[in-house]
Amino acid sequence: MAAVETTDVVVIGTGFGGAIPAYYLSAGGARVVMLERGPRLATADFTQDLRLDTYTRIVDLINGTGMSVVAGNCVGGGSVVYFAASLRAPSFVFERQGTLGRHLWPTSITRGSLDGYYDRVESVLPVAQQSWDEVSYAGGLWAAACARAGHTCNPLPVAVDLQQCTSCNWMLNGCVFGAKRSMLLNYLPAAETCATEIRPLHEVQSIAPATTSGSRYAVTYNQVDPSDYRVVVASGTIEAKLVILAAGAMGTPVILQRSAAALGGMPAAVGRYFSPNGDRVTLGVFDESKVRDLLGLERAPGVPYAAYAIGRPITTASYDYLDASLPEFSRFSLEQIYFPPIVDILAEDGVDGPPVWFGVDKRTLTTKFASWLTVLAMTEDANEGVFGPPPPTGNFIRASVAAGVGQLSYPTAPETRQGWDAADAAVKAIVEKDGLAQHLLWKGGGNGYSAHPLSTCRMGDDPAISALDDQHELRGHPGIFVTDGSAVPTSLCVNPSLTIAALAERVSALLLQRGTELGLTLRARVLSTRFRTMPFVAMISVRLALNASFGDGSSTYIEADNSSPGGAQRAYDGAVLFALNQLVADPKFTAYLNR
Ligand SMILES: Cc1cc2nc3c(=O)[nH]c(=O)nc-3n(C[C@H](O)[C@H](O)[C@H](O)COP(=O)(O)OP(=O)(O)OC[C@H]3O[C@@H](n4cnc5c(N)ncnc54)[C@H](O)[C@@H]3O)c2cc1C
Repeated sequence: MAAVETTDVVVIGTGFGGAIPAYYLSAGGARVVMLERGPRLATADFTQDLRLDTYTRIVDLINGTGMSVVAGNCVGGGSVVYFAASLRAPSFVFERQGTLGRHLWPTSITRGSLDGYYDRVESVLPVAQQSWDEVSYAGGLWAAACARAGHTCNPLPVAVDLQQCTSCNWMLNGCVFGAKRSMLLNYLPAAETCATEIRPLHEVQSIAPATTSGSRYAVTYNQVDPSDYRVVVASGTIEAKLVILAAGAMGTPVILQRSAAALGGMPAAVGRYFSPNGDRVTLGVFDESKVRDLLGLERAPGVPYAAYAIGRPITTASYDYLDASLPEFSRFSLEQIYFPPIVDILAEDGVDGPPVWFGVDKRTLTTKFASWLTVLAMTEDANEGVFGPPPPTGNFIRASVAAGVGQLSYPTAPETRQGWDAADAAVKAIVEKDGLAQHLLWKGGGNGYSAHPLSTCRMGDDPAISALDDQHELRGHPGIFVTDGSAVPTSLCVNPSLTIAALAERVSALLLQRGTELGLTLRARVLSTRFRTMPFVAMISVRLALNASFGDGSSTYIEADNSSPGGAQRAYDGAVLFALNQLVADPKFTAYLNR
């Protein structure tokens, strides 16, 4: 019989939630193996197309009942395909009580107590604050429309090297210029320098008690074929003292559900309380002459806007509705966002009757694509999503190479609907003021859509409504930790990655302490001089290994940085300069165009 493979720590998934603890634990001297379901691509491997055999190999569309979710499927996870908007969650989020009327976050976690960890992530990625000169035309248009309607709008912070970015607008495919600061460029290579081993195309199936002394859990995986993930080419098991689940909010609960019998039960909150982060996308179809006459904008001679597809996908947002004094389910942010033409089908066509997938009205709508502006509202939802029984293998049933059927049901609660309606009304009031645009909903397909799944294995103080304690440890299963978006208890009213990463930073400090209790022998490694991009992290990891404690930060939320109508106008002018001079003149971009 072959010997069972063992290591100190198995980390499942390589996104924000996996990469950060993997780095710290290996920097602290633990042997770490990361099992990642998707393939590994380097900067030069990314493509700029939406072909089935390229785009879909790194992204999954998981269709549930009532909700469809888009998620990364590659080494680096969502950080590779995301739009990199990097915002701290407002303070009131950590006080939310949801529909249960009970404090949902652990009381040990507040915005103040997370600020030090937010600081650290922002400096490691790093995150850059876009200036008005760096926002896209669409971002400038959104700012100008907000300003004219009496609202503020701000350029957003993004995890992008703004000097290196060509604004090619292919962020969703992974950045071929290496400008997007995904996990591939920071925590993961740093972890590998500390001897972490990353194994792509390894899809974890379940966890069971270990069979070898010194180990606590056995993790079973399938190795999948790179050209069709439905085909299993090998299987294996690896045993470890600690298991860290970071397979994302659509993956982690499924692995745990499948493991329930072998592990002797699961907390009831595993696979419950799914939140789509309150995501709600709606559309403004702008009247170009009104853009010129009411907003005074002109992108090029005779062309007021017609630039939906140009520039980075997320550049500006209004924080006006993130008002802590408002009641729950009425607070949200409104963010300009871009989606490629494949989503044309989702927008209603603006005529009475159910939305249709074809016909003259739909055709007319899509011919105006250049004059679109989509706005993402991130609202407070009711955590009403529930996972059914797990599929035989994997996280969902792969119906084809490109699409999956998930076990998620999302029966929209009245409170969630209330938040969406309030956000819809706010966007409508802004974009339809004086006939500037026509406001339309995304109704095609019937489902809601989210790229921000959360809360499916959430932490909290109350065992009745949370699966994890405030140190991310799975209740009743010492040595199993969940460090991805599943652990976040509620929707955040802003994009979630920075909060997931800050929580992962926080838990890394705790893991270095708890790991010792669980049998890890930790001694800070010295980072190789080859790895020069993270001296800051190297330094703090040593400190962490020795003394895992951090003070509370006291930074305030950035919503005070309001724009003025003049600011919005400058944004637009800046966008012209940026797009024409920087984008087109960039040698990498022109090389791409001419290839
Ligand atoms: C198109 C798009 C745009 C986005 N834009 C933004 C944005 O601008 N700002 C923002 O804050 N957020 C954005 N997000 C969301 C953000 O990417 C996620 O919130 C974040 O990546 C979640 O981190 P995570 O660690 O929880 O999981 P993930 O990053 O999803 O990582 C989970 C990893 O686990 C792997 N995995 C899953 N199942 C298994 C298994 N069974 N075995 C082994 N490995 C497994 C997955 O392949 C993946 O690599 C965007 C997401 C998408 C899809």
